[in-house]
Amino acid sequence: MSWFDEVEYIRKQAKKNNEFFANSLPMIASENVLSPLCREMLITDFHGRYAEGTPGHRYYQGCKFFDLVEEKAMELAKKLFNCHYADVRPTAGTTANIAIFKALIKPGEPVTVLDLADGAHISFGKWGAAGVRGVELISYPFNDEEMNIYVDGAVKLIKKVKPKLALNGRSVFLFPTPLKEIAEAAHDVGAYLVYDAAHVLGLIGGKQFQDPLREGADVMSGSTHKTLPGPQGGLILSDHTGDTDLDKSFLRKLGFGVFPGVTSSYHLHHVAAKAIAFAEHLEFGGAYAKQTIKNAQHLARSLYGRGFKVFGEKLGFTKSHQVLLEIGPGKGKEASQKLEDTGIVTNMNTIPGDEDPLNPSGLRLGTPELTRIGMNENEMEEIAEFFKRALLKKEDTKKIKADVKEFRKDFQELHYCFKEGFRGYDYHKLI
Ligand SMILES: *Cc1c(COP(=O)(O)O)cnc(C)c1O
Repeated sequence: MSWFDEVEYIRKQAKKNNEFFANSLPMIASENVLSPLCREMLITDFHGRYAEGTPGHRYYQGCKFFDLVEEKAMELAKKLFNCHYADVRPTAGTTANIAIFKALIKPGEPVTVLDLADGAHISFGKWGAAGVRGVELISYPFNDEEMNIYVDGAVKLIKKVKPKLALNGRSVFLFPTPLKEIAEAAHDVGAYLVYDAAHVLGLIGGKQFQDPLREGADVMSGSTHKTLPGPQGGLILSDHTGDTDLDKSFLRKLGFGVFPGVTSSYHLHHVAAKAIAFAEHLEFGGAYAKQTIKNAQHLARSLYGRGFKVFGEKLGFTKSHQVLLEIGPGKGKEASQKLEDTGIVTNMNTIPGDEDPLNPSGLRLGTPELTRIGMNENEMEEIAEFFKRALLKKEDTKKIKADVKEFRKDFQELHYCFKEGFRGYDYHKLI
């Protein structure tokens, strides 16, 4: 291939990908779409610049405008999450977690954590960030029926093993974590409580989920692109004030964990887009988070009513943006492929009891992106019907795909973001 053909090949795939998603139902719980104003930041000159350090204390010249942007991003993050400390530099949620490990724990020291099969993220697992830091992982007991940490057991465990960090946070996250009890136990044994809010950051910012920093978390990490609909990136927050020497040293260690710990360039264009996402969330986050949760609850009920096995039945299925389905032993992959063939994008997921992460028995669904394209409860009912046709009635996938495409036609605009004056901007077109 000539260079031109190579380039065209790549551009063609990007265009096809745009078309695929514009005609599909994107239901991956960790995904979202960027607002036009956030998107604009990604093609600015901030991309490609370096700004090691903190505003006003740089290793490179040329940062005077970026310093103002980073300061504004921190200010907006603190306002959105009502806290004293925000670090907007981590380039991903995983990077934020490694920075926290680097700052607060040494190799070989113990942490308490949820098992991956019970919904924890790989960055808290042996093969992920926790493993990279070489910490000792001790699992919380889990209550399958409530899809939550077994709180009395967790408190006992923390008192017994005296971890350095009590970790909380999940990728399958249907219900808030009983944090206050865990925080109390952790603080009693001198441990810090870390809450990984990657999935639920936008729900917390929208004040529709638990408020970990008020319930005892010393530090909260997160991704800025899941329920919080910003650019791909990470974030570290704390409500520690730095008033005492101990507190000051705690915050200094956290900052040092990020740089020089795990970043050099930290993707300045993404920091600028994060700042815009925070501003948009301060304006629209409450309404968006509320509708996202309502949609998840309605989707769960609609699927249950059509004969699907939905987790969390006794507690109303979900209090987040997620729904977890049990499909059958090892059958999650096949179901997610079939759904993709109909234009419904989800992911296979482990459920409690699963041992093979490559052949899980469940499907995880999310409503953030559907909500952002303007869908409400009525549409959740129709989507549940598509699921029934694809997975229970086993109708021809081509026929369903055509119907999904038709259904999606009315939902091509983004909601819950600033649009005035940006009408010419088509968010599915490459700039
Ligand atoms: C997604 C996720 C992460 C990782 O975030 P990235 O931004 O993808 O690196 C960390 N923790 C939890 C609980 C997650 O769900």
